[in-house]
Amino acid sequence: MTDGPTPAMRQYYSVKARYPDAILFFRMGDFYETFGEDAGVVARELDITLTARGRDKNGDRMPLAGVPHHAADGYIARLVGKGYKVVICDQIEDPKTAKGVVKRDVTRVITPGTLIDSSMLGSAGAHYLMAIAPDRKETFGLAFLDVSTGEFFVSAGSGAHDCADIVSEVVRYRPSEAIVPESLAGALPARLENLGVTVSRYRDDSFDPGAAFECLCGQFGTATLDGYGCADMAGAIAAAGAALRYAQETQQSPLAHITGLATRVPSENMVLDAITLRNLEITTGIRGEGDGNTLLAALDVTETSMGSRTMRSFLIGPLVRKAAIEERLDAVEWFVDHALDRQALRAALGDFADIERIAGRIAYGNAGPGDLSTLRDSLRAIPDVKALFSGDAPALIREALDAMSDHTRVTDLVDRAIVDDPPALAKSGGMIREGFNAKLDELRHLATTGKDWIAEFQQQERERTGIKSLKVGYNRVFGYYIEVTKPNLHLVPPEYERRQTTANGERYTIPDLREKEALIATAEERLTALEAEIYAELIRTLAEDVPGLQATARAVGLLDVYAALAENAVRYGYSRPVIEESGRIIIRDGRHPVVERHLPVPFVPNDTDLDASDDQIMIITGANMAGKSTYMRAVALCCIMAQMGSFVPARHATVGLVDRVFTRVGAFDDLASGQSTFMVEMLELANILNNATPQSLVILDEIGRGTSTLDGCAIARAVVEFLHGKAVVGPRTLFATHFHDLIDLEDSLKRVKNFHFAVKDTGNEVVFLRKIIPGATDKSYGVHVAHLAGIPKKVTDRAMAILKEEAAREPSGGPRAPRYTQMLLVDTGEGVVEENPAVRELKNLNPNEMTPVDALNTLCRLQRLA
Ligand code: ADP
Repeated sequence: MTDGPTPAMRQYYSVKARYPDAILFFRMGDFYETFGEDAGVVARELDITLTARGRDKNGDRMPLAGVPHHAADGYIARLVGKGYKVVICDQIEDPKTAKGVVKRDVTRVITPGTLIDSSMLGSAGAHYLMAIAPDRKETFGLAFLDVSTGEFFVSAGSGAHDCADIVSEVVRYRPSEAIVPESLAGALPARLENLGVTVSRYRDDSFDPGAAFECLCGQFGTATLDGYGCADMAGAIAAAGAALRYAQETQQSPLAHITGLATRVPSENMVLDAITLRNLEITTGIRGEGDGNTLLAALDVTETSMGSRTMRSFLIGPLVRKAAIEERLDAVEWFVDHALDRQALRAALGDFADIERIAGRIAYGNAGPGDLSTLRDSLRAIPDVKALFSGDAPALIREALDAMSDHTRVTDLVDRAIVDDPPALAKSGGMIREGFNAKLDELRHLATTGKDWIAEFQQQERERTGIKSLKVGYNRVFGYYIEVTKPNLHLVPPEYERRQTTANGERYTIPDLREKEALIATAEERLTALEAEIYAELIRTLAEDVPGLQATARAVGLLDVYAALAENAVRYGYSRPVIEESGRIIIRDGRHPVVERHLPVPFVPNDTDLDASDDQIMIITGANMAGKSTYMRAVALCCIMAQMGSFVPARHATVGLVDRVFTRVGAFDDLASGQSTFMVEMLELANILNNATPQSLVILDEIGRGTSTLDGCAIARAVVEFLHGKAVVGPRTLFATHFHDLIDLEDSLKRVKNFHFAVKDTGNEVVFLRKIIPGATDKSYGVHVAHLAGIPKKVTDRAMAILKEEAAREPSGGPRAPRYTQMLLVDTGEGVVEENPAVRELKNLNPNEMTPVDALNTLCRLQRLA
């Protein structure tokens, strides 16, 4: 027999019905309780004891797991970090004054993509909520919103993205959560989840372009979206509108710091797809996140979180317009030339708080007193920062300086309102400075003098009654009381009125004490309430300055990056690249910016001469470990760094603008997707062949390895022919291969050039010189590499012997398979590439003089030869 749910549980069920896919934290007294399935998840994920209480709707025992409210943030952060959504349902009236059951309602929804509390946001990196709005069949509009900083943009050219683009954008911006329409079908959500993104389904009507348009205009206070460059992109607008609405709903706040929308048009940025970002280890290492060997890790010597975020966005979206790149290079060069200013700026920025995130928290209403005082200290440093620059600074630096203001209104207000060493959180109280609010000062006085009065009263009573152990205490039920222990009860004066009997004695009161008690107790309570109110008002006032603070933060981020890029240039000897609108990439003494830092020996610099009209394709051969991949990646990284506005690791570099870098490198097993290595390789290759333009740069490392040598070689050859192009010249290409048959392409395709990596062979010892030189090689030194890797000498000696036997058995000039030197483990000492006898015979045939039977017989013989 069940009595039906209690009134509180009825509230619980009605809230839970509104948020079926989230974990509901339901405030009861000093705890947030979770029930039912939620409790199971909480107990499991947070390692909390699962108990049971009452009965659920079916009369079963109701599982329950609770966390203390003051420690809830940490638990919530852990759940959200694991991809859960958490709904906070608080008591929204004072339990003491409530009639009947306390009113409760949802005060916050915390999702992975809309975190804003500093305690929950880990790194300084951007923290995006992504929205995906189906546009037409199989195409989507995309929007990204960082609720903590207010950064908001749509990513679109025509507004259309297919699934592969979405995956690339996910890898580029690493959103923690993606919202998609409830009704979205297909494999996209599952693919996103595989990439570690929490997928939240959100009402279809929020993705309606009309509603989205209204929502965005309402937020920005504009009549149109024309000024944001996305007016005609329905999909992008739908996505942006949905993202904004979702953020507003989860935060239960108007999010005043989100004041505009940017349109990132891909044609304004070099395209670096997911595969390339990974292969070139730009932001993620091949071994995954947190791998320190990325270009980002190597370049990010910024001093502030704002700078760090800006560095990342520069790196994942290099520019493609010469003028814009030159402007950045000018700014970096200025810092290279002005060492003292650079050092002074970097020293000053070292103490800067994350102004952008604090501004976000002010807009949101949860900035703590500690935030305000660090914000003030950072803003105070701005005039000194500005004073570092003389009039000759280049345009971008001046622009950044103009965008930075001192915000004296903010600093003055914080100075007057907040105490010197404020608590980090507002709920602890004690943050408002004396003299800021007369009423508050009065209550404080009352509260402190009240306490003094109690202490004095206790002393007086001890003396008057002669009871040394007499104590004045307080509890919520009886208020202040005088406590006398049993042995002293005979000394109690007659005017003491008894209130309560305890195990050890009696508790009393007298009129004097009762009177003061009323004053003191309420003073404390009113003090807390008033201070919270004054603080909230202060935050509301500061919210007006949020757009200005954001502009300042962006400018600080930019200055930080220019100075950091200059710092790298000086520390590591980079030079300013020459940017051209041409098909050339000329590099003198180029190095790999990451590999060179981790080598125990000096890095051997190399040259590159690519030119669409002449040296379009480099076929690179050379032993394993010779340095082919490092070389090709270094060329690509040089172009990327140049176009992001950085100096480059080379004595000289001329970079003809690159619109997109494609890479197909090594063999990664994509086991998760169930596709074979070869299939993955071919898919990536198809993407390159279908999308590379004459302005692209293509890096191919050993394609065709996943299949038979014959197949692989044929595919590799056809790919080179295709990339070479006929009427239209194809993309600039670096192609490393072990298929030595490819080297004769140099003869048939006019823009193909052979190169190889030099090796010094002293008989028994092989030394890699790491130097690229024109011409081909057919040597591989596989056994030597095996020896270097620590394969026992017995095995390598035996391998060498087998090879010698094989070489002896194979009559010189006899039939040969396509040569794949990865397998040909030794240098046969020939040093020259021989013509296949089948080919030789073929060349000597004269088909015009052959009968059909002759032809057939010859064909059979040739097949045996080949
Ligand atoms: P390959 O692609 O030819 O097998 P890698 O490019 O992977 O060879 O290079 C193998 C190793 O050689 C690298 O890990 C690096 O340590 C070293 N290396 C490559 N290029 C250079 C260079 N230019 N100078 C010095 N060391 C290099």
